[in-house]
Amino acid sequence: PLVLGIETSCDETGIGIVRGRTLLSNTIASSMDEHARYGGVVPEVAARAHLEALQPTIEAALAEAQVELADIDAVAVTSGPGLAGALMVGVGAAKALAVALDKPLYAVNHLVGHIAADLLDADAPPLEYPTIALLVSGGHTSLLLVRDLTGDVDLLGETVDDAAGEAFDKIARILGLPYPGGPEIDRAAASGSDGLGGTRAGDPNAIRFPRGLSRASDMAEHRYDFSFSGLKTAVARWVEQQDAAGNPVSTADVAASFREAVVDVLVTKALAACADFGVPRLLLGGGVIANRRLREVALERAAAAGVTVRIPPLSLCTDNGAMIAALASELIMAGHGPSTMAFGADSTLPITDIQVAGEAQ
Ligand code: ATP
Ligand code: MG
Ligand code: FE
Repeated sequence: PLVLGIETSCDETGIGIVRGRTLLSNTIASSMDEHARYGGVVPEVAARAHLEALQPTIEAALAEAQVELADIDAVAVTSGPGLAGALMVGVGAAKALAVALDKPLYAVNHLVGHIAADLLDADAPPLEYPTIALLVSGGHTSLLLVRDLTGDVDLLGETVDDAAGEAFDKIARILGLPYPGGPEIDRAAASGSDGLGGTRAGDPNAIRFPRGLSRASDMAEHRYDFSFSGLKTAVARWVEQQDAAGNPVSTADVAASFREAVVDVLVTKALAACADFGVPRLLLGGGVIANRRLREVALERAAAAGVTVRIPPLSLCTDNGAMIAALASELIMAGHGPSTMAFGADSTLPITDIQVAGEAQ
């Protein structure tokens, strides 16, 4: 099926067009620059930006895919989770489009969409089930057992406080780096201040920051859960102490050591799940997967553990409409009917609700 996907859950207006599992276009307009000066996404600003960006982005996506609106078989949209006002803009547009074109509408889960992005990797072998999936994004950090992307996704564990992406953003702020923090931390770790007026690569072992919920007692009760707020506090306190003592602070070392702590715990827990469930497959999804060190460590340690890792192309890791179209396309191919119009934006939609207001529900 030829599916047009609409994504407006946060600050990216994403329109993607897929045919089956083939990506035809993935167009994104971001209001990130408008939020940068506030150090985070401002919901009202994001919603207005979606309203302005939607039509030109749809037109650009259609042009790139070289298809006409009339050719579309189905419209897909993110109904949640995300910012309510931002989601509402996409949901309204999708409903209007589906009615105007008289085409079926698929309301889907943004988080499962992040996982579905992997289906569009033309170079990868077909996705095999079951697979463990690690979803790391700006708002979520979850470990999943996926038996079927269109019908059977189990939440094994998730963060008990901050999401991994949120931690990157907060640490960047502490280090005086701009928003969004993920790419900035990557950059600072590769080449950042040495604290003495020069720049160099950071040492990931320079400072031993805490790995949340990793002690033996935690691993019994919170084996698949994550915690990043203690790490954030530890980094803030370390920087404060060095400043107070008049010691030079190497942004490069702090960035590299912080990143190492996050990556270590993410990969350790994901591979623990693979071992526990006897599933030698790990799928990565979400914006934080763009992190270079995370991909490196995941590939390295998974290989040692005999686990195959799937990583979506980078352009599909952060929010986009193609992953939403891909999930709907997969639902259609699996025989799922469209959603009724009886749905709205659901800012807290749980990951186990793959499709919203679907016929089979
Ligand atoms: P959610 O999907 O949970 O609703 P979101 O859509 O805001 O949240 P994404 O767009 O998937 O999240 O990811 C954005 C997050 O990814 C931000 O927190 C950003 O800092 C982080 N990120 C982007 N690039 C990198 C990177 N290279 N390293 C680490 N984090 C990164
Ligand atoms: Mg975003
Ligand atoms: Fe997202």
